[in-house]
Amino acid sequence: MEEFRGAVWKSLQRADRRVVSEPVSRLEYTDQMKIIDRLREDGIHISFEVFPPKTDEGYEKVIATTDEIAKLNPAFISVTYGAGGGTSKNTARIASHIQKDLNVLSLAHLTCASSTKDEVRQVIENLKELGIENILALRGDILPGVRFPDESRFRYAFELVEEIHRHGDFCIGAACYPEGHVENEHRADDIRYLKQKVDSGVDFLTTQMFFDNDIHYNFLYRIREAGITVPVLPGIMPITSASQMKRSQELSGTVFPRRFLSILDRFGSSPAAMRQAGIVYATDQIIDLLANGVRNIHIYSMNKPDVAAAIMSSLSEIIKA
Ligand SMILES: Cc1cc2nc3c(=O)[nH]c(=O)nc-3n(C[C@H](O)[C@H](O)[C@H](O)COP(=O)(O)OP(=O)(O)OC[C@H]3O[C@@H](n4cnc5c(N)ncnc54)[C@H](O)[C@@H]3O)c2cc1C
Repeated sequence: MEEFRGAVWKSLQRADRRVVSEPVSRLEYTDQMKIIDRLREDGIHISFEVFPPKTDEGYEKVIATTDEIAKLNPAFISVTYGAGGGTSKNTARIASHIQKDLNVLSLAHLTCASSTKDEVRQVIENLKELGIENILALRGDILPGVRFPDESRFRYAFELVEEIHRHGDFCIGAACYPEGHVENEHRADDIRYLKQKVDSGVDFLTTQMFFDNDIHYNFLYRIREAGITVPVLPGIMPITSASQMKRSQELSGTVFPRRFLSILDRFGSSPAAMRQAGIVYATDQIIDLLANGVRNIHIYSMNKPDVAAAIMSSLSEIIKA
């Protein structure tokens, strides 16, 4: 196994061109900056994710969450996009707050399946007006009742990537799936389409959550073989409750390894113990990734700054080594 990893990482490090040498540092910039430039800098880059409130009442709470996460010196903070597009204004407002008020890079997610092409174009123009340069281009899930495919909507994320490029000089990220996308039975097809998406102008990829790092290493090996050379940020989800695990499995179809299931069996009914075990599990995954040469990691912090802070506290010396 170690030999296999050695071979994988030799080729990965060639692709990423940089080695780990500097600790995470607070972003220093006066003008806006592109995430891809940040990722290409030496050192470890850890980013976090927040999701917008469904209602305006929750807005201030999410803003307070971003303020707490900003104290952890993240490489960037991403803001998700509500499945139906209904919270798109909040995504843009929160991304703008992160950038302008907190001086941290922000990544605005944007989905296209549930909106018309014209609506999507308006959102891109709005992001541009707000000075947001980094967009995660997604198709989004197909909502029940929505006619899809439909010529008034973009069908795949790669079409959205092409459209965003038509609007200006954006840095564009996209999603990838180490265990394969749920709609696609054949992994080889999934990787072929991923290559098409990257070739349409994607600067970096962020993975779906996974709980077994070997799945990620194997995926990296296969996409590098397929000629996909952009940075890939593994997405780590700290699971802090049994209900969160159930939801995550329903949404992503991810495999939970036996080691994780034992934790759930033993501690799932004790919220405090499960929270602690979930944080340690995610931290352990991150340490293994860093030990194997990964430099960029995205944490699905789920509007829980305390969880994000607990992970970062356990990594404080590790990210400097
Ligand atoms: C990091 C990350 C962040 C996310 N953030 C959000 C969010 O903020 N809001 C939200 O609603 N959802 C989000 N999602 C979920 C995402 O929208 C769904 O997984 C969605 O089902 C697929 O989006 P995609 O951009 O990967 O689609 P695509 O890349 O378009 O792929 C969708 C499916 O189509 C297939 N495919 C692609 N191209 C072709 C082609 N040319 N011909 C045939 N088949 C093709 C793919 O293999 C795949 O099965 C996120 C997912 C990830 C991993």
